[in-house]
Amino acid sequence: MIQNDVLAKFKEIFGEGGEIGVYFAPGRVNMIGEHTDYNGGHVFPCALTIGTYGVARKREDKKLRFYSMNFEELGVIESSVEGLKPEKEADWTNYPKGVMWAFGEKGMKVEQGMDLLLFGNIPNGSGLSSSASVEVLTGYILKDLFGFEVTNQDLALIGQFSENKFNGVNCGIMDQFAIAMGKAGHAIFLDTATLEYTYAPIKLENAKIVISCSNKKRGLGDSKYNERRQECETALAELQKVVDIKSLGELTEEQFEQYKSAIKDEIRVKRAKHAVYENQRTIKAVEALKNNDVKLFGELMNASHVSLRDDYEVTGIELDTLVEEAWKIQGVIGSRMTGAGFGGCTVSIVKDDAVDTFIKEVGSAYEKKIGYAADFYVVEIGDGPRKLA
Ligand code: ADP
Ligand code: MG
Repeated sequence: MIQNDVLAKFKEIFGEGGEIGVYFAPGRVNMIGEHTDYNGGHVFPCALTIGTYGVARKREDKKLRFYSMNFEELGVIESSVEGLKPEKEADWTNYPKGVMWAFGEKGMKVEQGMDLLLFGNIPNGSGLSSSASVEVLTGYILKDLFGFEVTNQDLALIGQFSENKFNGVNCGIMDQFAIAMGKAGHAIFLDTATLEYTYAPIKLENAKIVISCSNKKRGLGDSKYNERRQECETALAELQKVVDIKSLGELTEEQFEQYKSAIKDEIRVKRAKHAVYENQRTIKAVEALKNNDVKLFGELMNASHVSLRDDYEVTGIELDTLVEEAWKIQGVIGSRMTGAGFGGCTVSIVKDDAVDTFIKEVGSAYEKKIGYAADFYVVEIGDGPRKLA
C-alpha cells in the first residue's frame, strides 16, 4: 500500500522516532468551466482519488528538510522557517515553503521546523493541479502539526495566495478550492465571484471519467495564460463603458451579443465570448446533470472544447488530437481539454464497455500523429485532504 511505502521511505530518509503523520490531498479535474475562474464565472471541478501523499514530523529546531519521491535526484533540500523567500535552488520546495510563508502573512507564523516527504501519483505539470495538491496538503499538515485553526476553505485561499505571491503564478481559486473542498462522488459547482458553492452528485450510469494526458509540457503556456487574462481584463474594461458589470461572468449570451461592439478588437471579442458562453455552458451543464441528462452534459463538454480551440485558442495540436480522436469513438459521451491548456490533459466521459477501445484507439492515433505516447487514467472522484495515520 502507498501509505506504508511512503512511511517506510520517510524513515529511511529522515530516521525513525517521534510522532510521524501520514496525509493525503487529492488532485483535481475540471469537468467544465475553463478559463472562467478569473473572469468571475462558474467552474465545475472534482477532487480525485489520486493526488499527493505527505509524511511529516515536527522538529525541535527551526530547520526544514524536504524530500520528494517524485524528484529523488534532488535529494534532501534544506531550509529554515526564518526568512522564507522563493529561491531558484529550492526548486519544488518553494511550494510548501510558500504555504508556510502564507500562514505567517495571515498571522499564523510557523516557529518550529519539520521533516516532510512527498509522493504524488498524479502527473506533474499536466493540468491535474499537482501544485495546488501540494499546497493544500502542506496547509493541512501545518494545521495538524502546529494546531492552527483554519477551515478547508481557508486552506484553499491560503494555497492560492501563496501560489500567486510566493511562486508568482497568477492562478484563480478553482484548483485549491476543488482540492480542499473535495467530496467523493461529487463535483463542486463554484461561483468564483462569490465563492458560493454546491455539491452536485456525479452519477454516471455505466460510464467512467477518463483522463488522457498529452505528455506535452506547457512550455509557453504560462505566458499565454497571462496574455489571456490580460485580454479578458481589457475586454471587460471596454464593456464597462456601456454596461454596469464587475466581471464577464455577469453577462448572459444575449447581453454579450448586445454589448460586444464596445470591444474594439476582434481577438478580444473572441476571448470575452468564450468567457461569457463557457460560464453559461457550465450553468447549463450542472442543470443537465440534475436532470440526469448525461448526454446533454457531454454535448456541452464538446462545445466547451470547440470554444477553447477556436475562440480562446488555448488547445494546440496535442489536445485537439486527443479530443477529436475521442469524438470518433462510439460510446464517448463527451470529451474536452481540461486545465489551462497548451498541453496537459483532456477529460472524457466514456461508456464502460468502450473504455478499452478508447484507450487503444485514441492512444495509437495520438502516438502516430504526435510522435510520442499519451497516458490514460480511469479516475474516481474522491474526498478532500485528510490524515491517513
Ligand atoms: P500542475 O499543477 O498542473 O500539475 P504546475 O506546474 O503548476 O503543474 O505544478 C507542478 C510543480 O509542482 C512541480 O514541478 C513541482 O515543483 C511541484 N510538485 C507537484 N507535485 C509534487 C510532488 N509530488 N513532489 C514535489 N513537488 C511537486
Ligand atoms: Mg498548478
